[in-house]
Amino acid sequence: MFIDYARIKVESGKGGDGCISFHREKFIPKGGPDGGDGGPGGNVIAIGNENINTLIDFRYSKLIKAQKGKNGQGNNRTGAKGINRYLHLPLGTIIYDITDGKHEKIDEVTIHDQELILAKGGNGGRGNNRFKSATHQSPRYAKPGGDAQYLELELELKLMADVGLVGFPNAGKSTLISRVSAAHPKIADYKFTTLEPSLGVVRIGDYASFVMADIPGIIEGAHDGRGLGIQFLRHIQRTKILLFMIDINSIDPVKDYKTLKEELHLYDKYLDKKSHIIAISKIDTVSEEYRNEFLVEIQGEFQQQLQEKIIPISSVTGENIKKLKTKLYEVVNKFDLDK
Ligand code: GDP
Ligand code: MG
Repeated sequence: MFIDYARIKVESGKGGDGCISFHREKFIPKGGPDGGDGGPGGNVIAIGNENINTLIDFRYSKLIKAQKGKNGQGNNRTGAKGINRYLHLPLGTIIYDITDGKHEKIDEVTIHDQELILAKGGNGGRGNNRFKSATHQSPRYAKPGGDAQYLELELELKLMADVGLVGFPNAGKSTLISRVSAAHPKIADYKFTTLEPSLGVVRIGDYASFVMADIPGIIEGAHDGRGLGIQFLRHIQRTKILLFMIDINSIDPVKDYKTLKEELHLYDKYLDKKSHIIAISKIDTVSEEYRNEFLVEIQGEFQQQLQEKIIPISSVTGENIKKLKTKLYEVVNKFDLDK
C-alpha cells in the first residue's frame, strides 16, 4: 500500500457585518431602524469524488479560502452569503486537524458526493433593525459578522495502484512511467529498501486517471528471495491489473513472458491470473526495415502459444503510447465493474 499525503490550510469566510441604518423617506422625518443582517461567510467543504485517486492536486495549494459574507444594507437588505469552497477529495481520504501542532482525526471521506464541513463560515451579524424594542426604538448598534475559522489539515490517502508494471530490469518500465504520467506522488511508507517503487498518475482526459506503479525488476528466482524482487511482489498483489513489459530485443520474448508469469505464480498462485496487457517495448531500436516483420513474428508466437495479443510501443518516440493508455484504462475499469 502506498500512502499519499498533502498538507493544506483552509479558512472559511468571515460573516458580513450587520448594518446600522434608519428609514428615510420624504415627509417621514424619523423613520425606524432598517439595517439588514450581514450574510453568513462561506464554508470550506470537503466532498468525496470517486473520479479522483490522488492528493496530487493539493500538493502545491497553500491556503484554500471561502468567501466572506457581504455586509447588511439599509432598507433591511440582508448581505449576500459568502460562496463556499469545495475540496474534491478521493474516496478513502482521512482528514486530520494539525492546527497548533496537534494531530487529531476529523473524519474520513468514504462516499461519492459526501460533504463534510471543514471550516464553517462566520455567522452574519444582525442589523440594527433586530435590536429594536418597545423601550428602544432607534438602536444605534448592530453586530459585526462572526469570525472566520482557520485550520491546518493533513490529508492522507492510502493508494492502491491500478496497474503494476512487471518486467526484467532494463525492459523500459521507469521510462514508460515517466513518459505517461502527469504526476509522481511522493511515497511515504518505504522503509525496507532504498529502491522505491515509483507511482505515476496517468491522466485520461480531465477527470479520468489511473495510478501506475513501477515496481523494480523482477529477476528469476525472485519468489524465493533472490534479488530485490520479493519485496516488490508484495506490492503487485495489490494492483488491479498488470502490464508486462518485454524488450523487443529479447532473444525469446515468449519465454521471457512465461518466466515472468512463473515467478509471479510461484510467489502467489493467483497473481498470474490477474488481467493483464503485454507490451513489447523499445520498438524504435529496431530499424523500420525489419520492424514489422519482427513484430508480426512475435505476435504470431504469442498468439499461437498463448492466445495472447501484444502492443508494440516506444517510450522514446511515443509510438502507440496513447493506445496503451486507453487500453489500460479500459481494463482497469472493467476490473472495477467486475468487482
Ligand atoms: P527499467 O529497468 O525497466 O525501469 O528500464 P528503464 O526505463 O530504466 O530503461 C532501461 C534503458 O532502456 C534506459 O537506458 C532507457 O533509456 C532505455 N529505454 C527505455 N525505453 C526505451 C524506448 O522506448 N526506446 C529506446 N530507444 N530506449 C528505451
Ligand atoms: Mg526502473
